[in-house]
Amino acid sequence: LLRPASRLSAIGVSEILKITDLAAELKRQGRDVIVLGTGEPDFDTPEHVKDAARRAMDAGATKYTALDGTPELKAAIRAKFKRDNGLDFAQDEITVSAGAKQILFNAMMATLEPGDEVIIPTPYWVTYADIVLVMGGKPVLVPCREANGFRLTADDLAQVITPSTRWVMLNSPSNPSGAAYSAMHYRPILDVLLAHPQVWLMVDDIYEHIVYDDFRFVTPAAIEPSLRDRILTVNGVSKAYAMTGWRIGYAGGPAELIRAMAVVQSQSTSCPSSISQAAAMAALNGPADIVRERCRSFQARRDFAVTALNKIEGVTCRLPEGAFYTFAGCAGLIGRTTPDNHRIDSDSDFAQYLLRRVGVAVVPGSAFGLAPYFRISYATSPSELEEACRRIAHATRELS
Ligand code: PLP
Repeated sequence: LLRPASRLSAIGVSEILKITDLAAELKRQGRDVIVLGTGEPDFDTPEHVKDAARRAMDAGATKYTALDGTPELKAAIRAKFKRDNGLDFAQDEITVSAGAKQILFNAMMATLEPGDEVIIPTPYWVTYADIVLVMGGKPVLVPCREANGFRLTADDLAQVITPSTRWVMLNSPSNPSGAAYSAMHYRPILDVLLAHPQVWLMVDDIYEHIVYDDFRFVTPAAIEPSLRDRILTVNGVSKAYAMTGWRIGYAGGPAELIRAMAVVQSQSTSCPSSISQAAAMAALNGPADIVRERCRSFQARRDFAVTALNKIEGVTCRLPEGAFYTFAGCAGLIGRTTPDNHRIDSDSDFAQYLLRRVGVAVVPGSAFGLAPYFRISYATSPSELEEACRRIAHATRELS
């Protein structure tokens, strides 16, 4: 009989999976279900990236590579950091893994001692807390109010730092809120960190290229170079280049940390896929216009979704600066009753109701540590998005 290790007891199956499982079950029963739950672009990987992978395979790039990335890909990553972020990294300050998720895992495994605290603003990507828990660390969740744009404030941060704080994790633009930090928002937070030399900063910039209107993306290591020796700048090709299945993420940070992360990787997955590394290099070195074009398409869908959601009585939706999610409030619906006489007591109840009543899968805010909200991913076709919003409006009108 399997007895799972105790380190797994702290983490469970996420609410996201529960909703997607139920959606899959309803689909199997023949129901027409629109899933607004997935965190990946609906576009395909660009053709020139796929070509580079084919060429790499034909040229025999099918063997183990250097442990944490080929020199060629690392050079492309350094050039990217320089070009897009104004950051100069040496070759030994770059690491490549099987996705940004593995980067985070390596970093936490390489640095956390049991009981170390990691500050995570909510709403947050659940993986952050779960990785910390698996390592025996303690996630310190800090609620970030909608009134503050779902962003961590310097005061909030200063209040939760203790001698045991090891890391702060920031994600801009954010999954799930779509909120992004400008230089103005980052500045006071970095000032707090300057005063606490034991605290490191992990920034997850994976949605860097998906920003809207005149928002200017910036990353903390460029704002405060004196913090560079304790910032890990995480990024990847999954979201910008529609390459979620290729599994390539990367980071720039102090060489000592990067070396420790490579030790972790050496005894887990070894090098990332050789073919995917060649593809990622083509993505990073390739034309930027395809990314901009797709971003414009996401922006049109964001505008549509936010307008449609705000028209629904009881629902409010802030205009996100980036990523492809909206995080809509449903406080106005709590306490109402469904046509089959169930009370909506929480955002989870509302998400269940939407799925069962009108076949729309959204993820409750509670799954990201902030309720009552629901997240929709609008990285789906405009026609599906339109139909989904129509159904959400309809289901909401049926509540009494
Ligand atoms: N970071 C955030 C905030 C994400 O939302 C995701 C994916 O959903 C990732 C990282 C993971 O990216 P990767 O595919 O590179 O592991």
